Parts: sequence; C-alpha cells; structure tokens
Amino acid sequence: MSENQYQSFLIKYAEIAVKGKNRYLFEDALVGRIHQALKSVDGSFLVRKQQGRIYVDAQGEYDFDGTVDALGHVFGIVGICPVVLLEDEGFDLLARAVIDCIDREFADKKFTFKVNARRARKNYPMESMEINASLGERILEAFPDTRVDVHKPQVTVCVEIRNQINVYFQVIAGPGGMPVGTNGKAMLLLSGGIDSPVAGYMIAKRGVAIDATYFHAPPYTSERAKQKVVDLAKIISRYTGPIRLHVVNFTDIQLYIYEQCPHEELTIIMRRYMMRLAEHFAKESGCLGLITGESIGQVASQTMQSLAATNEVCTMPVYRPLIGFDKQEIVEISEKIKTYETSILPYEDCCTIFVAKHPVTKPSLQVIQNDEKKLSEKIDALVAQAIETAEKILVLPD
Ligand code: ATP
Ligand code: MG
Repeated sequence: MSENQYQSFLIKYAEIAVKGKNRYLFEDALVGRIHQALKSVDGSFLVRKQQGRIYVDAQGEYDFDGTVDALGHVFGIVGICPVVLLEDEGFDLLARAVIDCIDREFADKKFTFKVNARRARKNYPMESMEINASLGERILEAFPDTRVDVHKPQVTVCVEIRNQINVYFQVIAGPGGMPVGTNGKAMLLLSGGIDSPVAGYMIAKRGVAIDATYFHAPPYTSERAKQKVVDLAKIISRYTGPIRLHVVNFTDIQLYIYEQCPHEELTIIMRRYMMRLAEHFAKESGCLGLITGESIGQVASQTMQSLAATNEVCTMPVYRPLIGFDKQEIVEISEKIKTYETSILPYEDCCTIFVAKHPVTKPSLQVIQNDEKKLSEKIDALVAQAIETAEKILVLPD
C-alpha cells in the first residue's frame, strides 16, 4: 500500500457526547491536543475545524507513520482517515480522480469493494445511492478484476461530498475518550508499579488532565527507582499531555511510623499519609480528585476494610478506575499503552521496604486512628518538611 498520496487526515470523533456549547469546547480542546501531539512528528501541519470535522493537513513532506501514531495518542479521536481532498469539478472528473486514488492505493486491483458515498452538501446534484451506483460502475470498468460486495467488501471506497470531496479507504481506530483538559484535573498517586500508570491513563481518557505524586524513600529506594517513575510519567504523557510530577521525600515519615506504630499497621498508616500529602498537592495545583491504582483484594492494603481506612483521611473524591479489575486485565492495558516493560523493572518500592510479615487485612478504623495518635509529637513537622522539600518535575512527552 502506498501512503504518500495523502496530504491530509480526516479526524473522526464521537459526536454524541458533544452538544450545544460543549461541542465547541470539545473541538477546540481536541484541536489543541492534536497540535501538541504533532509537535514531535517530522513535518509541519495545519489543524483546522470545518463543518463539524477536523482536518490535519501536512504542509509538504512529513512522516506518515509518525503522524498516525501521534494521532493515535489523542483522546477524543475515534477514527483517523488518510484522505484525498478533491475540488468539485463535476462527477466525471470525480470518478476519474477516485479511480486514480484506487490505482495508487492498491498494487493488486483484485478485490471486492463497495462505494460508501455521503452527501453532506445537499446541493450536490446526485444523491448518495446514485453516486454509489455510478461510481461503482466506473470502478468496475476501470478494474475488471474487482467485484462489488456490499456486505463484506475487502475495500470500502468512502466518498464524502462536502465543500471539497473527501476520498478515503481506511478508518484507523483512535483511542476514543474525550480530549484531555475538558474535564478538569486530578492528582495521580504514581508508583513504579503496573497499576497506577494504567489508572492515570484511564482517567485521562475521560478528558481529565493529570498531575502526579511519587513517594520516594532514599536511601532505601534508589535514584533508578525514581527515574523509573519519571519514565512511566513520560510514557503516559503521550496520552495525557504534560504532567507535573511531585517527588516527595517520604523516608523520615516512614521511619517515624516504623518507630512509633505497631508493625502490622505500618502499610495502612503509611498509605493514609500518602493520601494526605497527595491531597495537599492536589489542592495546591487545582486538582478536583485523587487517582490510585487500587483494586479490591489485590493485596492486604486493598481489602474493603483497608480501603475504607485509607479513604477516610481524604476530603476529595478518590478515583480508583481499576477497582473491579483482575491483575491480568490491568496487565493487558499496560501492554497496550506500553508501560508494562518499564513497570516490571525490578527496582525497590517504598511500600515494600517497611512491610510487616503479617500486615492487618481487616484494620479497624478506630484502632488505626488511635495508633496514629502515637505520631502526634513529630508528625506535623515531618509532613510540613516533606511538603517543603518536594521536588517538582515537569514531565513532557518525547
Ligand atoms: P502499583 O502497581 O500501582 O504500584 P500496587 O499493586 O503495588 O500498585 P500498592 O503498593 O498497595 O499497590 O499501592 C496502591 C496504590 O497506591 C498505587 O496504585 C498507587 O496509586 C499508590 N502508591 C503506592 N505506592 C506509591 C508510591 N511510592 N508513590 C505514589 N503512589 C503510590
Ligand atoms: Mg506499588
């Protein structure tokens, strides 16, 4: 298949979700995200809205595969169609141009096809059915080894009559969802594991911009463990756009909890402090919720009782998009979004360093609240210090 006949892409997006005033917000956000995604692609592009459609026009030479890949990371896009745009110069010339397109697109002219015409501009002198039939005939004449099959064609020749005439053969699936930024922002608790990057991806897919917080415990967790989190943020930033990553030095808080509290409660109490700190940064940067990669029953700290105990310290909604997912289902998404290989790199995690042999699986909220009082002497100062010393990294897609 030769791709270089395409100078433009027709971008399809789900129109049901966008009505009235929201539609224009949605479209503008989508145009913005497309611009951002195309920055890393070889070539220069014009992105334009026209009659409920978005077009990406390459200005001169460009990287076709890179363009399709970049557009494939833009939430809100459901279909990417490499398109040939023709001026309306009468049916005869249209038929010849379509035959030309087919000639260039398919080396082997031996396929079944159907023409799928759509007359979006109602003053065009022929109706869709008529265009289908007449164009079909011309194609059969030009390529005698082709055959019409309206049920399961190998090739669909799409012809949309608009101001210009759009001819395309392929709708490459986009990621769906809504353009990032159309639904506020949330704070992702991002660890180096498999789950949290997937959780961030899933919420961003609904149009939510993402900031992130990572709890680092040097020297128990290494620079490489931190770099792994930055790398994961970078991978998901291809979908989410820039991520402001807060790296919190959590060591002193963890050590203090370890000193003062019963060891079987360490994980729960530590997780409560993670949520508190993440919420602090969330409020500071205008986020409307927190996101975690938790899933019911996956580990001791994710039983219903543990989740209730962790959740209790938050005033913001906590979004847990993986809550009902099995590990295998999460792994499949992480493979699809290309975070898996990085997530399984074997660097230490701050949660695993101070874990008890037998953590409580059914913590009583009252007991936890009581034991947390043992931290009252120093914890406020330690939390304040963690907030003050947090490092902020702006993570941009490559
Ligand atoms: P993940 O694969 O995302 O690390 P997990 O199965 O290891 O998850 P936990 O360690 O119990 O589960 O963590 C549950 C959630 O808490 C994570 O999905 C993440 O959102 C958050 N979290 C855990 N550790 C950290 C950390 N060091 N920094 C930031 N967030 C964390
Ligand atoms: Mg983890």
